[in-house]
Amino acid sequence: GGSASASSIKQVKLERESELRIEVGNESPLKLRLLNGSAEIFGSELAPETWLTFPPRVKFAVFTWYGATMEMDGATETDYTADETPMVSYVNVHAVLEGRRNRAKASSPNDSEAYQGPRVIVVGPTDSGKSTLSRMLLSWAAKQGWKPTFVDLDIGQGSITVPGCIAATPIELPIDPVEGIPLEMPLVYFYGHTTPSNNVDLYKTLVNELAQMLETQFSRNAESRAASMVINTMGWIEGIGYELLLHAIDTFKANVVLVLGQEKLFSMLKAVAKSKPNVDVVKLQKSGGVVSRNAKFRQKARGYRIREYFYGLTNDLSPHSNIANFSDLLVYRIGGGPQAPRSALPIGADPVANPLRVTPVNIDRDLLHMVLSVSYAKEPDQILTSNVAGFIYITDIDIQRKKITYLAPSAGELPSKYLIMGTLTWLET
Ligand code: ADP
Repeated sequence: GGSASASSIKQVKLERESELRIEVGNESPLKLRLLNGSAEIFGSELAPETWLTFPPRVKFAVFTWYGATMEMDGATETDYTADETPMVSYVNVHAVLEGRRNRAKASSPNDSEAYQGPRVIVVGPTDSGKSTLSRMLLSWAAKQGWKPTFVDLDIGQGSITVPGCIAATPIELPIDPVEGIPLEMPLVYFYGHTTPSNNVDLYKTLVNELAQMLETQFSRNAESRAASMVINTMGWIEGIGYELLLHAIDTFKANVVLVLGQEKLFSMLKAVAKSKPNVDVVKLQKSGGVVSRNAKFRQKARGYRIREYFYGLTNDLSPHSNIANFSDLLVYRIGGGPQAPRSALPIGADPVANPLRVTPVNIDRDLLHMVLSVSYAKEPDQILTSNVAGFIYITDIDIQRKKITYLAPSAGELPSKYLIMGTLTWLET
């Protein structure tokens, strides 16, 4: 603290169109400020002389178009400057999107193609910088006064809410470099698993629901229709992953496909787009600053993300531990589950479980450490297609007394008694 850390202050001068790449250390936060010039973090401009505090392990870059001097206070895992970045090509994409937004705003509903703003989908392998590019495009658009919708289909990490979900939220201001995507009113669907292969049909069903919901919003709101959307996708691009990418492009009627860091995927999508004259497929260079995260790191990041949902980024939230009777909560699961043995079925019946069947779950010790979602459904038959209000975390199951203890964002009754269980777990640390 205090004077001891004064010695760790350092200044970095950045030339025009270069960036300072930083990985904050594992133990302590890093403070950073802009001393002079101008700079941005993933599309969000920095206010002069204002200290920002980045939590441990965060990886980011401070980019300057015209030159800047930065000041840092604290330990980093790495920090270095780079003058080769793909930022000019990224901002050129932004300029094209701006043109299309203006055209959409000015055109009449009869011109159905021009009337819709650019529906951008960002695709590429894991760690190609998809989330980062999405964030820049959204922040640049918001800076210009648009309110684009961010759609996150990446169930692996979840930049809008906890992992295992697909979600959408309007971006009204450039995204805060520390806090990330604002959590005010996201539209969230709970898939419940962190890989799509667990239940491909469910994933597609939820993508359809989310797309339909946004379609309705766009038809009522000319402003958000013109600003349109930026869709971030999963890094899974082979086999079923590729099939799901095509499904997402079709379902959201994406008309701009940005492919990061993979020639093969680009040429495949380019070939597919031949039959779709309204779809532009654009290849973009991956930034050399994107940090590869191994499976273990990603697993850990999922845990931090869940922790952040309940406790906040800086422990600024106070979740509440609640106790309920088994009979108070109705837990459901979608698909999977025990299948009837062939001998118990009528002759010729297929024993494969229906992936979209919603079945009640008996409350037992298996629920311990599970993260469940709280559905907005009013009846069990709406569970499959309803969005969710939030999440609870099961901390104790008392079989004898039939009591369940769970952590919720706040005290009081849950918005609904219908809970959905997947395979999402968390070990609170
Ligand atoms: P993807 O969404 O394709 O998996 P991300 O956009 O999440 O990839 O990037 C992976 C990691 O690299 C993130 O932690 C991100 O903050 C970091 N990162 C991206 N671009 C840069 C950069 N230019 N400099 C430093 N770190 C970066």
